[in-house]
Amino acid sequence: MNILKDERLANYCSYRIGGAAAHLALPKKTDDLIELITWAKAHSTAFEIIGLGTNLLIADEGYNGLIISLRDFEKFCVRKGGSLIAGGGVALSELVNFACSEGLSGAEKLAGIPGSIGGALKMNAGAFGVEIKDILLRANTLSCISLQEKTFTVDELALSYRQAASLNGRVVLAAEFSFTEGDKREIRRKTDEILTLRAQKHPLEYPSCGSVFKRTETAPAAKLIEACALKGKRAGGAEISQKHANFIVNRGGAKARDVLELIQEAKSEVFKKFGVLLEEEVKFLGL
Ligand SMILES: Cc1cc2nc3c(=O)[nH]c(=O)nc-3n(C[C@H](O)[C@H](O)[C@H](O)COP(=O)(O)OP(=O)(O)OC[C@H]3O[C@@H](n4cnc5c(N)ncnc54)[C@H](O)[C@@H]3O)c2cc1C
Repeated sequence: MNILKDERLANYCSYRIGGAAAHLALPKKTDDLIELITWAKAHSTAFEIIGLGTNLLIADEGYNGLIISLRDFEKFCVRKGGSLIAGGGVALSELVNFACSEGLSGAEKLAGIPGSIGGALKMNAGAFGVEIKDILLRANTLSCISLQEKTFTVDELALSYRQAASLNGRVVLAAEFSFTEGDKREIRRKTDEILTLRAQKHPLEYPSCGSVFKRTETAPAAKLIEACALKGKRAGGAEISQKHANFIVNRGGAKARDVLELIQEAKSEVFKKFGVLLEEEVKFLGL
């Protein structure tokens, strides 16, 4: 496997923020992945798995280890009766589009969520009341410790709101999803409706990681942050979006430290006003 040196991680995430990785590799198949993990262990080098980097805030100093990016990993998506099987590095949007073209219903509300199949499982990604676990049947995974493969059913994975503790230390190699047969045009219409709604609500014109904080028990994080009059607040090149207060956008040249400053400010103001401690949905890498 080709291992790249000093690659800028800003090029591997949707935030466009992040310094260089000492080492970075782009496996295409499971054997490559095993070779890379074995290499990292043999060299006592820390390693991290990333998908399409759409839920990451990466340190300005980068990462002193091996980043295994699954951007080129197992790019297949096939139909098996009423289900679809997709590789871990396939974009969720590809699965949604493939389901549309096959006249399979079930993933319409997941349209527009960026990221990979593996990332979607790890985050139990969801929107508009539907989560990836609602259509997931099973996932094939690789243990980073034993390097053995194991398939889990959706029940065994016990995914919950933006959480998949059962996948800690495991890489999603592929997953199978169940769908119901439907009318192609109707599925396309519903999918497009969701995409339009998302474009209206989200500041898609700027790089971001999507929602920074998880939903709270009291209210959506965006409502609480907005009530603290923080919309439009800036730190360096980062800004609490004027369009959606749970997005901290990169207005140009933002550093991870700028985003962190705004995260701290939002947490502290919301806690002072409402006594609610916001919890990050974004994952930190190297921070
Ligand atoms: C504009 C925008 C809108 C968004 N809207 C939504 C939304 O509506 N709903 C929502 O839930 N999320 C949303 N997100 C967040 C993000 O898209 C999801 O969390 C997505 O599922 C992350 O996938 P990824 O491949 O980019 O993962 P990454 O960001 O690369 O990684 C996220 C985590 O998953 C792990 N991971 C990645 N691939 C694998 C794998 N194959 N096996 C095991 N672990 C893996 C990583 O180690 C990391 O812990 C949005 C993001 C953006 C930028």
